[in-house]
Amino acid sequence: MSDYHDFEHFGLDARIVAAITAMGYQTPTPIQSKAIPIVMQGKDVMGAAQTGTGKTAGFALPIIQRLLPQANSSMSPARHPVRALVLTPTRELAEQVADNVKKYIAQTPLRCAVVYGGVDMDPQTAALRSGVEIVVATPGRLLDHIQMKNTSLGQVRIVVLDEADRMLDMGFLPDISRILNLLPKERQSLMFSATFSEEIKKLAANFLKEPVLVEVARRNQTAETITQKVIKVHESEKGDALLTILRTHGPDGGPMKQVLVFVNAKIECRRLARQLQKQGVNADAIHGDKTQDERMKALEGFKKGEIEVLVATDVAARGLDIVELPFVVNYDVPFNAEDYVHRIGRTGRAGASGVAIMLMTGADERGVTAIEKLTKQKFTQDAVDIERRAREPRREGGERGERGERGARREGRTYASAPAKPEDEFFLKPYEPSAGQATPAATQQGAAEQRAGQKPSKVAALLGGGKR
Ligand code: AMP
Repeated sequence: MSDYHDFEHFGLDARIVAAITAMGYQTPTPIQSKAIPIVMQGKDVMGAAQTGTGKTAGFALPIIQRLLPQANSSMSPARHPVRALVLTPTRELAEQVADNVKKYIAQTPLRCAVVYGGVDMDPQTAALRSGVEIVVATPGRLLDHIQMKNTSLGQVRIVVLDEADRMLDMGFLPDISRILNLLPKERQSLMFSATFSEEIKKLAANFLKEPVLVEVARRNQTAETITQKVIKVHESEKGDALLTILRTHGPDGGPMKQVLVFVNAKIECRRLARQLQKQGVNADAIHGDKTQDERMKALEGFKKGEIEVLVATDVAARGLDIVELPFVVNYDVPFNAEDYVHRIGRTGRAGASGVAIMLMTGADERGVTAIEKLTKQKFTQDAVDIERRAREPRREGGERGERGERGARREGRTYASAPAKPEDEFFLKPYEPSAGQATPAATQQGAAEQRAGQKPSKVAALLGGGKR
């Protein structure tokens, strides 16, 4: 397989080349060089590429090329059946892929629609009913539209599972199986995944025919353009450490702008954004409980630079496309080492440089080791000279007893800055969550059990492995 170093040599239609030139693409990224010729030949592809590598154009441009012979400007919806389907795990990724596809097809008569849940169905219904060759969708909402006969998939020639690993993580396998069963057997299938679990391999084995493996970076490798740092902190100093980093780890030791901060839980996401706001930082939170509108608004504000710090959970951040995002901070070490690869893949995209900083407490050592093993690197551990905030005023009404302080910490009311001179030995003790509260370790274990136990058998059953 020879690689191509400019877009002219792929044999792409002049209208496609003109569109990407207008978008400022000059040279293909490595995944594009490799995938475009293979997809154009009609072969199935298993793409090992993380988001940020340019994989969307890697599959979308050759798909568009393959659809062009049937492109027409007829007014009749029947002349615009769905011929290519892209399934994505999140609304954000669906939007982002569709936005790109719409730009790539701007000079052709092809049409593209995007459908995802959490928003009004009517505009999507109208778009589907008017006839579209390319549909980008999250699985659940697509099934709703199919049930309502707003579209049909009987003429799909090419299907793409984008971020397949995340779709499985999010429990979309039953929906994906249902959708795949509605497609013609004769078709081209492409699958992209940043990571390769056993479930992904099973899905690929069942869904792809003699796929060509297209790999750009070693599996689970993080982009070389990202400078990665781990900063060791005490649990009680995390908040202050984050503030210090935000103020001092930007260009020339100044403040960071446009920082995506990852946390492991929704509740922490809200809390941290609120606490940052109290400290005068323009921060917002993006997590699964937010409505689509709220998420879009936060994202827009972030892209425009009105919001400097966006605190996010893994699911909410999946698929965010922020060009040249300079900084990612892992406030929490992710439970799943593979999430680290996804998280920091938000920066250092398409060759731009980025910085990824992770806070590590004593309890995170195992998690950090797992990331080092997965990404085949050894982190150097830095420290920060933490700027301590003035202590928050004492609460009135005797709330400072043992339970009051612990309760406040649990709910995150204090920002956990360690007092210079503790009045009570109790406050020197490491924080121990009370019984019944989900600890990171417990959550991790639960997630691990789910991964180790339920999902593989579900995959086997749904993909023809029979019931166990
Ligand atoms: P993706 O990995 O597909 O999400 O792409 C990451 C970002 O890189 C998107 O903003 C793309 O528009 C951009 N991009 C993709 N291919 C190229 C290219 N060949 N040159 C410049 N930018 C690109």
